[in-house]
Amino acid sequence: MPKEKLIKHNLRAVPTEADQPDGRIVLDQPGSDVCTKCYGSGMEVVAGKGARICECRQRDAHSIRLAKARIPKRYEKCHFNSYQNTSNESQKVALKLCIEFANKYPAVDHGILLTGPVGVGKTHLTVSIIKSLTERGFPCLFYEFGSLLKEIQDSYNPNTRTSESGILSPVLNADVLVLDELGSAKPTDWVRDTMYHVINSRYNDRKFTIFTTNYPDERPAEGRETLEDRIGVRARSRMFEMCRTIRLDGDDYRRNFDGPRLRR
Ligand SMILES: [Zn+2]
Repeated sequence: MPKEKLIKHNLRAVPTEADQPDGRIVLDQPGSDVCTKCYGSGMEVVAGKGARICECRQRDAHSIRLAKARIPKRYEKCHFNSYQNTSNESQKVALKLCIEFANKYPAVDHGILLTGPVGVGKTHLTVSIIKSLTERGFPCLFYEFGSLLKEIQDSYNPNTRTSESGILSPVLNADVLVLDELGSAKPTDWVRDTMYHVINSRYNDRKFTIFTTNYPDERPAEGRETLEDRIGVRARSRMFEMCRTIRLDGDDYRRNFDGPRLRR
């Protein structure tokens, strides 16, 4: 991956006061990519202590891991620091639990299922977790549920009746997988079987998965769908064993943002 295409991210993905809100670092000399600590040598001399590997090299390694995590561009700036959906208790609790997961991993017992309506910041929290974990050296992967299914479907070879393993293998093997918008694709038998395969394989390999979904467990009204309707009983039941469910509620931040414009 060419170095100049990488976005340099701060090496403190769990917030401190001094961080930039979006988690990026500010280069000492604008327009310059040369590290002011090691001048590009990769080794930093610490007075009285000798030489050590410069922080910029760790930062580069982190940036590569982050690029491999495939976070969509529109979520690139998401960071625990910039999570502003804390208008109600459920959002404060969710933020706290996600930071806790990011700090404690891999010493955790469960993955996470974030449920709640559109626009309460579920994806923002999952991307923030990925930033923290990739910084600590753990390979992560982000997929929107619909895009993953589409990629698997597109790679399907009718002659061998299999999908290309190149798509599935990183999904099954990533230390931590984020599956965003679970249940968003039309629930056919193929969708349910494929999802069960992914979820169950990761469960058997003791890998942690973080899901978000807009679909609730309890039917909100007659004729409305639940998560189980969308992904199947087997997958939902497996997820109960794999994940801690965190319920979010609150206003859609996008609606707040767009309100005045839409009313014009
Ligand atoms: Zn350096």
